[in-house]
Amino acid sequence: MPDSFQHWRSAPDSQHRDILAAIRQLDAADDAQLRWLLGFLGGLVCGNARHMPGGPDRIGPGGFEAWFAALDRTLHQPSDPLLRQVALQHRAMSDGAGTLQSRLRDRAITPAEFDRFADAVVHYHGSLRALERALIHEACMADPLTGVWNRSSLTDRLGAERDRMQRHGGPCSLSMMDLDHFKDVNDRHGHAAGDHVLRTVVDVAKRHLRRYDSIFRYGGEEFLFCMPNISAPEARIAMDRIRADIAALRLALPEGEAISITASFGVAEMDTHHSIEASIERADRALLAAKNGGRNQVVV
Ligand code: GH3
Ligand code: MG
Ligand code: MG
Repeated sequence: MPDSFQHWRSAPDSQHRDILAAIRQLDAADDAQLRWLLGFLGGLVCGNARHMPGGPDRIGPGGFEAWFAALDRTLHQPSDPLLRQVALQHRAMSDGAGTLQSRLRDRAITPAEFDRFADAVVHYHGSLRALERALIHEACMADPLTGVWNRSSLTDRLGAERDRMQRHGGPCSLSMMDLDHFKDVNDRHGHAAGDHVLRTVVDVAKRHLRRYDSIFRYGGEEFLFCMPNISAPEARIAMDRIRADIAALRLALPEGEAISITASFGVAEMDTHHSIEASIERADRALLAAKNGGRNQVVV
């Protein structure tokens, strides 16, 4: 499990790209830190405070502040503990470097002073790596096309939800959504148009869900919604809004044509007495009933 970043419960497509961008930014910071560190140590070894590369605030293109602000913007999560940790450890490393640099001018640096600096360097590097690990984990759990969670994170996340229900009670509803006759969309308009439909449908669903809800891409054109603290009748109402909005979509194509699509939904409340798989199975059976009942409908 990641150390943090749990709040991206259904990272949209743009956030998935942002995560990948942030991973590249962290990689660049890693290289910059090593280069700065070698220059700084070179100055210490040669006893030449004047020819040091400056404090670690010089790390990264445009300096650490600029780099960190860019990362912050990419992630939109200034309060994330891992991000705060990077900033704190950087400050400690900066202070340590400052102390060594000023000592070098007056007298020899003691082993304890150097060790404190070395620890700060290791901790800073550790905080960058922890953030990078969390982001890589996050990127692996997201579906690249739609940005929602992929199936590999399903068991973990629904398991956590089931544990929460066991502790605090309250319902949690699952809903399986499957697009109707989606194969026809691909066959008639091509795969790229189909992809566009998938992304749009996910955007519509997100508009109706709360930030505690999660969306998983369960299969090709099949999505599972997990809605904590929502009973099955409430979930039906929410799903029916999504259903109506999807049915009202007119997705314009370059040739002037427009695609219409409908979706079917199967809702079931999660049950703490049974396995997660059994709850999904019930939502799936409700979905089958919605398909058999003529599609474009919600069945509980
Ligand atoms: P039904 O109403 O019974 O669900 O009919 P359907 O045509 O939606 O169901 P079917 O399972 O026959 O077809 C699903 C289609 O979804 C087939 C597959 O090519 C398409 N599909 C799956 N993943 C993707 C994807 O990532 N992009 C696109 N464009 N199409 C996909
Ligand atoms: Mg389908
Ligand atoms: Mg299907």
